[in-house]
Amino acid sequence: MVKQCFLTGELIFFAEERAKRPHNFKKLHITSTPSEFCPFCLENESMTPKEVFSTPDKRIRIVPNKYPFISKNDPTHYGIHDVLIDTANHDERLYKFKDEHITEVIKAIRHRVDILQKDENVVYVQVFKNDGIDAGASQSHSHWQIAALSVLPPKYSVIKNVLEKYYKENNKCYFCHLKETLGEQIIDENEHFISYVPTDAKFPYEMYIIPKKHISNITEFNDSEISSAGKLIRNCVKRLASIYEGISYNICFFGSPKPNALKNPSDNFKDYMHFHIQIIPRIGHMAGFEFSTGCYINSVMPERAAKTLKEINI
Ligand SMILES: [Zn+2]
Ligand SMILES: [Zn+2]
Repeated sequence: MVKQCFLTGELIFFAEERAKRPHNFKKLHITSTPSEFCPFCLENESMTPKEVFSTPDKRIRIVPNKYPFISKNDPTHYGIHDVLIDTANHDERLYKFKDEHITEVIKAIRHRVDILQKDENVVYVQVFKNDGIDAGASQSHSHWQIAALSVLPPKYSVIKNVLEKYYKENNKCYFCHLKETLGEQIIDENEHFISYVPTDAKFPYEMYIIPKKHISNITEFNDSEISSAGKLIRNCVKRLASIYEGISYNICFFGSPKPNALKNPSDNFKDYMHFHIQIIPRIGHMAGFEFSTGCYINSVMPERAAKTLKEINI
């Protein structure tokens, strides 16, 4: 079966038989850098640039990335690249964070995004987490990255255009409408957020998290919404960890560009950009077919993935 991702237009080939390949879906090996060499452990503070944010107990810190891919000094592509260290405990995994801990993490992200969006050269702030070697993490100590860009990334522009077109044709936001139609695809929900497996999932056990209310930017979340979002993120990752211990995954936030970023008064992007979070389990690898075609092969049907994930006792 072949589907097309609504948001990006990419093709997804569903092939459940591929999951039976002998090397697929094995338990992943958990690797960890020894803490004495870890730049994100508190005793090694001197190994990172000076922090730009910290909670009073230093459990959560934001530091400039020591190896940034963008810089304030680049005349062509201005940017700021931060690392958010979300625990002072070298081996603590996000899925084990208590409610107040994960809330504090998402609050720190909201705080930093707000500051970065006030930079006059910044157009869009990308928040993401790479956890595990198969997700591209270079450090095993749990962390996030925040990249403030002076351009809209092309993939983001594609999604934005699709959502704008949907809004103009239907006079409603795509995600506000979608949440009414998710049915069995919903995995979990709490006061302010819903997690679900999209019917056009590109990856096995891929999940989305959206606010029930139309909110376009993380800086608009109140404390209660921040807490709801954090708890669902933690729970989604916990479900993945129950399926595959030590699984690598990526978390990507998609919000609106910063207010007034587009300098086009007729572009009401806040009306159609509904904040959403994508959680991508890294089971198997993107390989030659994906790189050469931009298409994906998903070996778990989204309906089966939703059923499996929601049956896990959190
Ligand atoms: Zn560490
Ligand atoms: Zn909406």
